[in-house]
Amino acid sequence: MQTEAQAFIIHIKGLVQGVGFRPFVYRMALKNNIKGWVENNNEGVTVHAECNSEEMNRFLNDVRKLAPQASNITTVATYPAQWAGFTDFSIQKSGNLSDAVTEVSPDIAVCNDCLEDMEKQPHRLGYPFINCTHCGPRFSIIRELPYDRQSTTMAPFVMCAACKAEYADILDRRFHAQPIACRNCGPKYFINEHGKNELTDKASDILADWINSGNIVAMKGMGGYHLVCDALDEAVVSRLRNRKKREGKPVAVMIPDIETAYNYFEVSEAEADLLRSWRRPIVLLRNKFDLAHSVSLGLNTTGVMLPYMPVHTLLFKKLKTNVLVVTSGNLSDEPVAIDDDVAYERLYGIADHIMGYNREINNRADDSVSLVVNEKERIIRRSRGYVPSPISLSLDCEGIFAAGAELVNTFAIGKGTQAMLSQHIGDLKNAETLSFYEEAFERFSNLFRFRPSLIACDSHPDYLSSQFARNLGIQTIEVQHHHAHIAACMAEYGLDEPVIGIALDGTGYGSDGTIWGGEFMIADLLGFERKYFFDPVPLPGGDRVTEEPWRTALSYLYKYFGPDFSGKDPMFLKLTDPLKQELILQMLRSNMNCPLSSGAGRLFDAVAALTGICPVSLFHAEAPMRLEAAIKPGCKGKYHVDYIGKHIVFQAMFHQILSDMEHHVSTAEISAKFHNTIASVILAVSKKLREETGITKVVLSGGSFQNRYLLGLAEVILREQKFSVFAHSKIPSNDGGISLGQMAIAAKRRSSGLIYKPF
Ligand code: ZN
Ligand code: ZN
Ligand code: FE
Repeated sequence: MQTEAQAFIIHIKGLVQGVGFRPFVYRMALKNNIKGWVENNNEGVTVHAECNSEEMNRFLNDVRKLAPQASNITTVATYPAQWAGFTDFSIQKSGNLSDAVTEVSPDIAVCNDCLEDMEKQPHRLGYPFINCTHCGPRFSIIRELPYDRQSTTMAPFVMCAACKAEYADILDRRFHAQPIACRNCGPKYFINEHGKNELTDKASDILADWINSGNIVAMKGMGGYHLVCDALDEAVVSRLRNRKKREGKPVAVMIPDIETAYNYFEVSEAEADLLRSWRRPIVLLRNKFDLAHSVSLGLNTTGVMLPYMPVHTLLFKKLKTNVLVVTSGNLSDEPVAIDDDVAYERLYGIADHIMGYNREINNRADDSVSLVVNEKERIIRRSRGYVPSPISLSLDCEGIFAAGAELVNTFAIGKGTQAMLSQHIGDLKNAETLSFYEEAFERFSNLFRFRPSLIACDSHPDYLSSQFARNLGIQTIEVQHHHAHIAACMAEYGLDEPVIGIALDGTGYGSDGTIWGGEFMIADLLGFERKYFFDPVPLPGGDRVTEEPWRTALSYLYKYFGPDFSGKDPMFLKLTDPLKQELILQMLRSNMNCPLSSGAGRLFDAVAALTGICPVSLFHAEAPMRLEAAIKPGCKGKYHVDYIGKHIVFQAMFHQILSDMEHHVSTAEISAKFHNTIASVILAVSKKLREETGITKVVLSGGSFQNRYLLGLAEVILREQKFSVFAHSKIPSNDGGISLGQMAIAAKRRSSGLIYKPF
């Protein structure tokens, strides 16, 4: 029996703009015989619906189930409304939007409907730039708001009649799809031979030929060029490695589908969901067996992603291999190439062939990288597919520019209560990367109509981001590095109260001028008190220790066992030059160029070197990564640690490790016991601080928490002891998250009247 028609107001919150949500609602309304209207507002969309209750239920069901993949519905609330007797359904113009609604969608992986269309729509048969309102490029092509075709790099392409008709048809999936294109009117791939471009409709055939015959190809992707080759061909992968000067660092791979992932890797349900998500990050998966040795170089994980551009899907149909190396198109440490000329200049020679396309990339975006710990995503590099989605703070951060850190830099700008984090920028010490930073700041400022009125930066005197910030000549507040780490994680979870903050990382400038990085603090957004920290050690040669972890190992031995440690005869000393050892010992004895550091990363380095796992490091954080990879699963043992004053002292642990080595305990077991020790320190100190202060919320941040084993274990044992644990998920725990922490601290200080608020 039909119920009587009534009027409803529906508030749907938490959408992403620019993913075709209103046309989608329109189509669902038509399908279910709903009269009324839909409009955008500051928090999402509002629907006025007139229908009977069965129609209403079906409509709401459809809205939830069939929503565009990149939309994100957080709440749907329905209220009774005044009957107005509408006879049709319409999309209201969104004229009254405030400046706060400036959301730009990230780039979206090609959707399944488009992949199907690519096989049946005559004007898009095999067309590798197919897209719709639910998928395709967004951030990478936008120049300014509002988001329409003229303000993107699609502007030079004039729509053909067929595309125009689809674009104008509200019932079509491509209604107002700004990058709409087809074979007749859209972008095309080109082969770049000797700097000359030759357009082609057969990009995937040509690419397949090149790759099948063992070549390295530079290929223009969504947010930058990639270098691509067969991942199962050891010779070509190691050639790529040599040419790219990427000696030790693992490279990511792309596979055609989830079934292939199950064949090669251990894949949990959460990992499978993440691999398939429209954001398509690189997901770090555990290997079932080694691919070509040069892919992961003895590490037990590989960065894996599924196809996200139509050309990827077309390509895999023609390839002999089902695993491709897909790594950023750059020389080590430089930003990924986006301009076709630059790509030719820099990549020809690394690559045997270059395949570009004639649409510009305006905003560079590397592939994002994530891993799953305790069934939850933990992002490591936040870029394509994620940026520029804002992070909502509960604080007004309008006008704040947070400059970020130095090594894996991102910056952030504040609009209203939303923090917009930049894409992953990289290591600012590289000159090219520093110009990318400046360019990205320009482009973000233009895109979001941002004018800074307050600056937050790291208190490190030499960070290039801090120097850039100070040079803007606006009031600047300096934020201690590890306080920013903790604040970043607090901001991610909307915490604004005192917490137990544990920041473990490699290095950061401490308030006392020494290097910090094994920090246990009581912190809120206004300040922090350093309660406990890892016993500082001298770093002979300063920064050089990151490349030569054996120096730090030597320093720990010297510190804890004095000049006689050589009687303990650790094996790793046989791996390094005795003359160099003597030099380092001299530096330690005379305390020359030996800055003190409490960095957790250095402790991991030292143990990795001591056990012979990684005395010399070829890339950032190699030693901790190899140490983690060595862990023997299921081992419960741990070492002894002393708490002396504020110092967490590892003398006993080093003694026990040396003794284990003497008794031929495997490095796998030593590594497990070491990691268990650090987790137990986290628990023990948290308990001390809870007893002292009554605080039960523990916030974990810093690059050391990218360690799957350590983070996984720390979360579990803290929760067993009734702590509430907060660890990063949407924001990197490494220095890529620092800008968000700086932003939150600056916003809180301003709202508390602790700094002058400009007009
Ligand atoms: Zn699509
Ligand atoms: Zn067309
Ligand atoms: Fe850090």
